[in-house]
Amino acid sequence: MIVNSEDHENRSLSDLLSLDLDALEEQLRDWGMSAAEARRLGRGIWRQLYHGAVASVESLTEVPSAVRNRLIQEYELPTPIHVARQGDLRLGAVKDLLRLPDGSQIEVVLLAYRDRHAVCVSTQVGCACGCVFCATGQDGFVRNLSASEIVAQVLHMQRWLVSQGRRVSNVVFMGMGEPLLNADTFKAVQRLVDPKALGIPPRRITLSTVGIVPGIVRLADMCHALPINLALSLHAATDELRDQLVPMNRTYPLAALHDALAYYVDRTQRHVFIEWTLISGVNDSSQQAEALIDWLRGLPAHVNLIPLNSTPSYRGEPTTGQQLAVFTAVLDRHGIAHTVRQRKGTQIAAGCGQLRALQTESTSGGTRPALKPLAQAPRVINRSFKGEGKSDLGALISR
Ligand code: SAH
Ligand code: SF4
Repeated sequence: MIVNSEDHENRSLSDLLSLDLDALEEQLRDWGMSAAEARRLGRGIWRQLYHGAVASVESLTEVPSAVRNRLIQEYELPTPIHVARQGDLRLGAVKDLLRLPDGSQIEVVLLAYRDRHAVCVSTQVGCACGCVFCATGQDGFVRNLSASEIVAQVLHMQRWLVSQGRRVSNVVFMGMGEPLLNADTFKAVQRLVDPKALGIPPRRITLSTVGIVPGIVRLADMCHALPINLALSLHAATDELRDQLVPMNRTYPLAALHDALAYYVDRTQRHVFIEWTLISGVNDSSQQAEALIDWLRGLPAHVNLIPLNSTPSYRGEPTTGQQLAVFTAVLDRHGIAHTVRQRKGTQIAAGCGQLRALQTESTSGGTRPALKPLAQAPRVINRSFKGEGKSDLGALISR
């Protein structure tokens, strides 16, 4: 266990979060620890890593110095750099801009509820799907995030919450990128639910997809191991309109999507969330609402309606109150459970669109979850996100 500082400088470090607990214990045994010692120490290290206590390998405690040096020599924690923050958790939400080692920038959001703290994670830098109204899609695809980079976003918020005696209780995959086009999404979910890691109950995790049929089928097949919630970003219920708004519809059209969701419901015996961003004069008509009713036939679903957040490259406007009433009246007439996220409350929470609606337990109508102020406000590092990040943060904030 001799540390050679030159070697240390010349060698690239491995990602400590990418090790599962068995692999970490094996590594400790390879460094000369007995099986019992490796087990005890491995669990101790994991507790510190995943309970939000440490931000670097250097700050691990209760580790024998020889092992600690070896860990420092060979491993690192993929801790992103906190570039900027918007919002105020006392008002319900904060959004952080994080910089990864390759210079990529991603967003992560923390939402506070009376009894829960939900983190909204990104799964890709940019997105290839190109939904016309989405700021992330407008900028194109850069790369997938690794499972560690996804988990590191939750740990980023966890560290901050732990310092105030709180913990992350829910995770939503609704940040930048399409989670079902990144194989590492499932690895990240496994780490999140692992009771020895973050231990977040699968039912408190929601994955939102634009409608990647093979991914939905895979999720359904994994439901016994990973019974997480599924949200589908539908936005239109005729292929003609959905082809325009959501180009991925040309690959997986509505009939194929319906079959995939029916399979998911059959396998999981659970309902699905349907996301519908309401754009004035585009998809907020009673005809689209009726088409949605037709499309939903046989699918137990909860519809989340979100007025559009304007983005720079899309000319659409959010729906009007009047048209919203027309749309919801159709849903009500057919007894379809729905939630409307009103454009009020905190800017940042509104910016996170349907997240609030997903966390709301009401089955119908526009109930907003209650917010509990935190004792300490976040430090605002930089209020301006101009020119930073692949997606315009402002686009996710209500005006
Ligand atoms: N790629 C996944 C998850 C990330 S997008 C998906 O599309 O589901 C998260 C949600 O934000 C999606 O429902 C998406 O349609 C919605 N969204 C994107 N841009 C928006 C905007 N400008 N206004 C309102 N909702 C938006
Ligand atoms: Fe990608 Fe989702 Fe944005 Fe569509 S809405 S471009 S799938 S991140």
